[in-house]
Amino acid sequence: MAPEKDFEIAIIGGGIAGATLAIALKNHGIKCQIYEQGHAFSEIGAGVAFSPNSLSAMDVCDKNLRGAFEKVATHNQWPSKKNVYFDVMDGTPDFYGRDQTEPIFTLENEQGQNAVHRAHFMDEISKLIPIETCHFRKHLDSIAEDEKMEKLRLTFHDGTSAEADGVVGCDGIKSRVREIIVGEKHPSAKAKYTHMYGYRGVIPMEKAVDIIGEERATNSCVWIGPNAHILSYPVDGGDTYNMFAAVCDTNEWPDEDHLTLPAKKEDAIKDFANFAPAIKKKLTMVEDNLDRWALFDLGDNPVPYMHKGRVAIMGDAAHATTPHHGAGAGFCIEDSALMSAILGDERVKKPADVEAAFAAFDASRRERGQWLVQSSRRNSELMDFRAKDVGRDLKKIEKEMKERFGKIWNYDINGAINDAKGDLGKRLAKMSRA
Ligand SMILES: Cc1cc2nc3c(=O)[nH]c(=O)nc-3n(C[C@H](O)[C@H](O)[C@H](O)COP(=O)(O)OP(=O)(O)OC[C@H]3O[C@@H](n4cnc5c(N)ncnc54)[C@H](O)[C@@H]3O)c2cc1C
Repeated sequence: MAPEKDFEIAIIGGGIAGATLAIALKNHGIKCQIYEQGHAFSEIGAGVAFSPNSLSAMDVCDKNLRGAFEKVATHNQWPSKKNVYFDVMDGTPDFYGRDQTEPIFTLENEQGQNAVHRAHFMDEISKLIPIETCHFRKHLDSIAEDEKMEKLRLTFHDGTSAEADGVVGCDGIKSRVREIIVGEKHPSAKAKYTHMYGYRGVIPMEKAVDIIGEERATNSCVWIGPNAHILSYPVDGGDTYNMFAAVCDTNEWPDEDHLTLPAKKEDAIKDFANFAPAIKKKLTMVEDNLDRWALFDLGDNPVPYMHKGRVAIMGDAAHATTPHHGAGAGFCIEDSALMSAILGDERVKKPADVEAAFAAFDASRRERGQWLVQSSRRNSELMDFRAKDVGRDLKKIEKEMKERFGKIWNYDINGAINDAKGDLGKRLAKMSRA
């Protein structure tokens, strides 16, 4: 364990970004407090999948984080699918009206598919965060410098306040900290509807095997097709089949305050009218009443900076993305690895150094985070046969998807940390000359 530093960080939000950052900071001997508006750490939705870059980032944050993840991780159930991230299938019926059952190509890497049930993952990782540093039912309203401009004063909705030397907003897609940094009127203050929504389903594995067969139910695959795609992978040690169906939408989202709205199973089946009968059969497995999840992102209005002074943002707060690369949570963990390594650098000693550390974090992470947001949009265009100059050209789709996933998976987190530390050194030197 590294020696303790002479500053304290406040983390706003206890999702995957905030929780993994708290664990990583503790590992670097940095004091932090976490303020979460909910009454506990909790995650909604079902599965979340992690690719090799996320696993390497977990190792950098704290070996115990990787250990906690492995306790609840589920992989493809067939040994022959060990390296498969997703088998990619054409979801449209072929010339003869049959369902296409063989993959058109496979996205593969050395780690294969690594998925967890969100709630189980959160239960495991929250055990690594000292309870006395967790403050629940604390909704952040404002951040201001104190009279001596030494401490940052955080004010919460319940009228209480707290102090810190640096603040990291991990408060997700509707981030208050982002609003504070860029200004409420700035276009990036609010994420926008991407004209796509999704349905999520978790189904007992036995039922899924009965309906779609063992190979497709117990191993990860994605069916692509016109204006929609549907993916699935096993979670809960293989006991549960986790499914997500994404659909293009020409309408506006009717209620920006609510990212989910009620829908019926028939709506989902109707959305996949142009797909093969086997796909519609998959959708018969979901509950009669389900939620329709709006997909918002920061793609049209990326943030101009990810920190201002000693206040920074990371995770969805900084680069809210659609889920078409299945990488938003993985990028949260990359952010945590880099942020903790920079703040943990031996040259970052006192409160005044925190600003230089945040600037080095921003310089290192902004481009990659914002690339993900754009690439995720493009990936859904590819999967939904609406990418310009590509359409339903399956060879072109394969080539471009493999390139894009390769860029996500082959990230050198240790190299990025070394580079960011070089940058940090220059910033600290400049500060000491000023
Ligand atoms: C359908 C879907 C599927 C996905 N699948 C994957 C996948 O397979 N793999 C992957 O890597 N990513 C996936 N993602 C993306 C991933 O879920 C997100 O990128 C990730 O969960 C974001 O985590 P976060 O901690 O930044 O934000 P959040 O999870 O939104 O957490 C923010 C936290 O901050 C709290 N908060 C908000 N405002 C305040 C405030 N003012 N004061 C105090 N607390 C506050 C909230 O209560 C919340 O707990 C998916 C996303 C979707 C929508």
